[in-house]
Amino acid sequence: MTRLLIVGPQGSGKGTQGVRIAETFGIPVVSTGDVFRANVSQGTELGEQVKSIIDAGQLVPDELTSAVVRDRLSKQDAAEGFLLDGYPRNLAQVMHLDEFLEGRDESLDAVIVLAVPREESIARLKKRASEQGRADDTDEVIAARLSIYETETSPILGVYGTRGIVDEVDGVGSLDDITNRIIAALEARGLTRPAAA
Ligand code: AMP
Repeated sequence: MTRLLIVGPQGSGKGTQGVRIAETFGIPVVSTGDVFRANVSQGTELGEQVKSIIDAGQLVPDELTSAVVRDRLSKQDAAEGFLLDGYPRNLAQVMHLDEFLEGRDESLDAVIVLAVPREESIARLKKRASEQGRADDTDEVIAARLSIYETETSPILGVYGTRGIVDEVDGVGSLDDITNRIIAALEARGLTRPAAA
């Protein structure tokens, strides 16, 4: 059972590394950004509710976001562990998640923080914008998202830090090197990968 959270500024590579780490530990990725984007592209009611918020780089209301996460974590495949990507993103969401996990007698095992300098994040986001054309990857929205990260998301690391579960990993280097650094940090905590099939 491995319950992880990956945190990093937009453009830190947390999405890519999250998928790799989840595969390594045999757990599903729960990415709120992916869930919201899928709902927007499918034109669901949730998608309609969140589209303009996401396009502006603002945060979707906490209650709505936490309800989406509770729903997802209640699915069978998350019973044995999960990797959260992009949630919680502020202190209110940390409280919501705590409440939910406590109700299941669970807690997070580790919080991986991908450390990437701001200029590097911005350069990566601009590259992604030109490759994928995401509506929220414009200069203005990138700046808004990075400042929300600094003011609202960074403080959650203080809370998790006092619980002794934060592993800060250098997010600059080759994809494989970064993945290996994260795996090493998690294994140093005694978290084990499932035996290869
Ligand atoms: P991401 O792919 O994680 O950068 O998420 C894309 C967008 O989805 C964000 O800029 C927010 O508008 C929204 N979003 C994702 N996760 C959350 C969250 N935990 N709380 C509020 N909004 C979120």
